[in-house]
Amino acid sequence: MKRALITGIAGQDGSYLAEFLLKKGYQVYAIDRKRDVLPPYLEAIKNKITLVQADLLDMQTLVTCMREVKPDEIYNLAAQSLVQDPRNPPSYTFQVNTIAVYNLLEAVRVSGITTRFFQPSSSAMYGDVTTSPQNEKTPFNPKTPYAISKLAAHELTEFYRDRYTMFCGIGILYNHESPRRSPEAIMRKVVSTAVKIKHGEENKLKMGTLDTHRDQGFAGDYAEAMWMILQHEKPDVFVIATGEVHSIRELVDAVFKELGMGYEQYYEFDERFARLPEKGVLVGDISKIKMTLGWQPRTKFKELIKMMIESENSKR
Ligand code: NDP
Repeated sequence: MKRALITGIAGQDGSYLAEFLLKKGYQVYAIDRKRDVLPPYLEAIKNKITLVQADLLDMQTLVTCMREVKPDEIYNLAAQSLVQDPRNPPSYTFQVNTIAVYNLLEAVRVSGITTRFFQPSSSAMYGDVTTSPQNEKTPFNPKTPYAISKLAAHELTEFYRDRYTMFCGIGILYNHESPRRSPEAIMRKVVSTAVKIKHGEENKLKMGTLDTHRDQGFAGDYAEAMWMILQHEKPDVFVIATGEVHSIRELVDAVFKELGMGYEQYYEFDERFARLPEKGVLVGDISKIKMTLGWQPRTKFKELIKMMIESENSKR
């Protein structure tokens, strides 16, 4: 039975990946910092996961964890995952998104285990894009502390792959959502506000401009891509995206229409949520992962919206 170690299991991607790996027959181990309070969506599988005591910012605990678990595969899904984090300073973002990645890679090296390591990089690393769609060869141009922290982790992972011939697979992930995404994320915010408006509990959807664009997929599909990257014959870098782009206006319109409303009377521009104007469109070219691994997203944009609305309604 293969052993997988997941960091960030309580997050969106970690939870979908854990479900996926259990179905594939893996023994799943997880490093989680809030070990006693796993989110409700892990209820069905929590007894099948072994929680391991380790701190991503303390390498010695990670070395011990590697020696005890001896994972065949490691998926590093713990992160400060918001591009703009309202709760923490950028220094925290660097701690979790960069230093912790170094600690994990170094712990693998020092412990002497043979394993495969997956690192989720971010399309935010492309920053102000001048060419669309972007692929694995598009130059990075990060413009936020989050994007810089992810690029540093990306390069560290490549360094360990090349310098120590470790099997390090990387996915460059475009935006992906699900009912498990943090409430600040755009699709969660639009859906939960629209549902509240529908029930008369809210009267405005306050957002920045609606004329920016996103390549938005479903997290469950992306978890499968991560696994496929680690099954490949050699460690490599792959864009994980839908290859489709939708404006935030299209998203808002589709959500409100699904709920039988028009968005125009509810939307209000709020400077607090405004971002710098978009220079180019961030959309992934998924030719490489399609051709090499046979992966492509299964869930369509409208299906994802329906899934998010159903989940929001089911909580009421
Ligand atoms: P989430 O924010 O949903 O999950 C992140 C997880 O990391 C949470 O379980 C969180 O734990 C954990 N975590 C945060 N800080 C620490 C810490 N100091 N020690 C231990 N655990 C910690 O993120 P996603 O699942 O959406 O993202 C997974 C990965 O994919 C991240 O690397 C992200 O940067 C990357 N990515 C995601 C994209 C997206 O659209 N979702 C796009 C591009 C890249 P807790 O529950 O305790 O807070």
